[in-house]
Amino acid sequence: MDTIDTTRAPGTEAAATVARLRTVFASGRTRSVAWRRAQLWSLRTLLTEHAQELGEALRADLGKSPTEAFTTEIGFTVNEIEHTLARLHGWLRPRRTGVPLALAPARARVIREPLGTVLIISPWNYPVQLALAPLVGALAAGNCAVVKPSELAPATSAALARLLPLHLDPQAVAVVEGGVPETTALLEQRFDHIFYTGNGTVGRIVMAAAARHLTPLTLELGGKSPVVVEPGTDLATAARRIVWGKFMNTGQTCVAPDYVLAVGETATALEPHLASAVREMYGDDPATSPHYGRIVSTRHFDRLVGFLKDGRTVVGGDHDRDSRYIAPTVLADVDPGAPVMNEEIFGPVLPVVAVPDLDTAISFINDRDKPLALYAFTASADSKRRLTAQTSSGALAFGVPNAHLTVPGLPFGGVGESGFGRYHGEHSIDTFSHTKAVLDKPLFADPLRIAYPPFTTWKDRLLRLLL
Ligand code: NAD
Repeated sequence: MDTIDTTRAPGTEAAATVARLRTVFASGRTRSVAWRRAQLWSLRTLLTEHAQELGEALRADLGKSPTEAFTTEIGFTVNEIEHTLARLHGWLRPRRTGVPLALAPARARVIREPLGTVLIISPWNYPVQLALAPLVGALAAGNCAVVKPSELAPATSAALARLLPLHLDPQAVAVVEGGVPETTALLEQRFDHIFYTGNGTVGRIVMAAAARHLTPLTLELGGKSPVVVEPGTDLATAARRIVWGKFMNTGQTCVAPDYVLAVGETATALEPHLASAVREMYGDDPATSPHYGRIVSTRHFDRLVGFLKDGRTVVGGDHDRDSRYIAPTVLADVDPGAPVMNEEIFGPVLPVVAVPDLDTAISFINDRDKPLALYAFTASADSKRRLTAQTSSGALAFGVPNAHLTVPGLPFGGVGESGFGRYHGEHSIDTFSHTKAVLDKPLFADPLRIAYPPFTTWKDRLLRLLL
């Protein structure tokens, strides 16, 4: 397995790595189900044996608490592996499909074949999960893979570069560490699929690079995921769940609630519940809580601090540049035109926007980019129906944010500006496989002759009848 060799130019290194992986793929060894299963078991072993080392890296990069590091990264990925191992044989079984009468006798099957050598580019916010969960799919589908962790989570990137070669087939999986030059060099190579997780600006760069080789692509992007709260729901529970989903990983979660659309009287009624939920989870001074992390970089810190003036502070607002700390902050009376409402927040600032009714909430959502997730807390079955039918988002969840990711049978991915393609469980196999049509018609009988010219009246009649 490779880590970047700094003595060679990134382009030379990338070309050599990809060429070597292609040769390994061509040898056919990654196609066997036994090889795939062995890789998945080894990846599981890596995660369980080195959970502490990875946890320390996550603490160093993002100040993640050990519990959160386990539940959202290490344990999450182990679950993904176990779900895949238990079902892989079934997912790979060829699926028979019927043939039209005019073609009988014949057998038609749909099979999933590996794509070849794939590139996984991952971001810093869940640097273990978002590098390894796609890798589970790539390996389960029988591919070679290059993993490019984020340079903004350097401790985790280094840990992955050290540990993956110890556990996985080093000829079939390469880790390339680095930033823009190294990723650019990789993107110049021809891959059979590119799986990118990150922001939409870089997503466009990746897509343009993929277009040069006509490489299929998955873009797992972000956006502003709204939470609609309607009157009549249990506001204390709703607030606790919103606070949990929002401030997990210090708000640096792609599916985190970005803002609340509070319908009618909930705008003011929700405020004390949100404030007390923050205190319940992080105490009166979250800066001292071992369960609360830090902002990834000073650049992100400065951007986020700029949002703190965009509304009335309900709770939080404290910040410290040296430690990149921003308290879990709820802002009320937020103007929909304020800067905090114009871009993905991706940090611990939760604006609450008041709307008079559900119609306005739905229009508000539909007037903006399609979000990665839409959440709603409502007691009304009719509101649920309307939100389901009248809005579009990567996922829709009632009663809880973020948790849809943990349901292995649900596809995870965006729509519109939040990206395209999907993964997790069987959906990862779809992403990293070519779904191939196979038709097998015996030669012993040739009823097809009725389809051969010259056409006669009876052939014409029969064909019209059969087709
Ligand atoms: P990031 O800065 O770590 O970038 C992601 C990857 O892109 C990194 O590996 C980086 O090296 C590479 N990269 C950066 N600039 C590049 C360039 N010019 N050319 C080629 N590669 C380049 O992470 P980020 O983009 O700040 O991540 C945060 C964003 O990602 C948010 O918008 C968030 O919503 C989104 N996100 C989405 C998901 C999802 O699953 N849909 C998950 C996490 C994050």
